[in-house]
Amino acid sequence: MSTRAPAVLARKLIKTYPGGITALNGMDITVETGKVFGLLGPNGAGKSTTVKILTTLARATSGEATVAGHDVLRHPDRVRRAIGVVAQKSGADPVATGRENLQLQGRLYGLTGAALNRRADELLDRFDLAGAGKRAVKGYSGGMQRRLDVALGLVHRPDVLFLDEPTTGLDPEARAAMWDEISRLAGDEGLTILLTTHYLEEADRLAERIAIVDRGRVVVEGSPDQLKGELRGDAVHMELRAEAGRTSLAAAVGGLPGIHEVLIEGRRISARADDGAAAVPVLLAALERAGAVVASATVARPSLDDVYLRYAGRRFSEAQDDRTLEPATAGGTR
Ligand code: ADP
Repeated sequence: MSTRAPAVLARKLIKTYPGGITALNGMDITVETGKVFGLLGPNGAGKSTTVKILTTLARATSGEATVAGHDVLRHPDRVRRAIGVVAQKSGADPVATGRENLQLQGRLYGLTGAALNRRADELLDRFDLAGAGKRAVKGYSGGMQRRLDVALGLVHRPDVLFLDEPTTGLDPEARAAMWDEISRLAGDEGLTILLTTHYLEEADRLAERIAIVDRGRVVVEGSPDQLKGELRGDAVHMELRAEAGRTSLAAAVGGLPGIHEVLIEGRRISARADDGAAAVPVLLAALERAGAVVASATVARPSLDDVYLRYAGRRFSEAQDDRTLEPATAGGTR
């Protein structure tokens, strides 16, 4: 493959599962070689389906994709040799030791003898598993198992590594360790990483480019800073003591100077403000006039959650596992 070609290119991927579920609805992805690319979206957004198609484990209903320059449909075998896959569920044999798992995986890719042993040791060292290499995997902690999974994905020195939700289920400490590990991998020459995650913080920390996915397609893409920078000013969030009439609330807070993109969802009100600190008393007064009692108010610099809210028209946490929820936007961009 030419070094200029993107490591991953997906165009207009559609995937319909039996029963009529549209998991992908025109997914477009371009990942440049050597970059860490984050596919960020709530559960059910279509991240795993995308990974399955790109790693040749599933076929798209329509659309096309190449990975490491190879077409996933025409040359699935070439794609498989060029990629490492760390699936959500561990592929390690729990009864075998970490070292045996690495050796087995290496043999599958044609490594033998001293080269195989060297590679297994190298990876055990690299992932801080040298001391545990001779122990059965079932005795490993969650973090150790996950590190072994990544090591298994790297045995054959792939060009592109897919990490599907690499830290889901890990405790905060193991998650932080895995983040360090992935950051280190990103420094490996030429290795491209496509990572899926539903953790905003994870994408923010690890990915150089992020595509935010919602309902089977990319709603916005850019570097984390670019995405956050697109949002004007501060994010102001308020919570009312009790739900109030939407129409009267919208009338009360609409058109206030320096306050934009007001979104009302039940008891929660979010807005963007040129100056967050100045906006709070203005909003409080307006809400009070409308008879609403504010229980809490926060001002924050824009986060990826705010980016998601802006482009998907709903809050990230609310989109999780809820694909039927209709966005309650006030001036959303969908
Ligand atoms: P994510 O990885 O972002 O959580 P998925 O790609 O797993 O999302 O799922 C996207 C949508 O497709 C969801 O609505 C999910 O329920 C559905 N889906 C995924 N796999 C299957 C399958 N094998 N059969 C039917 N529906 C599926």
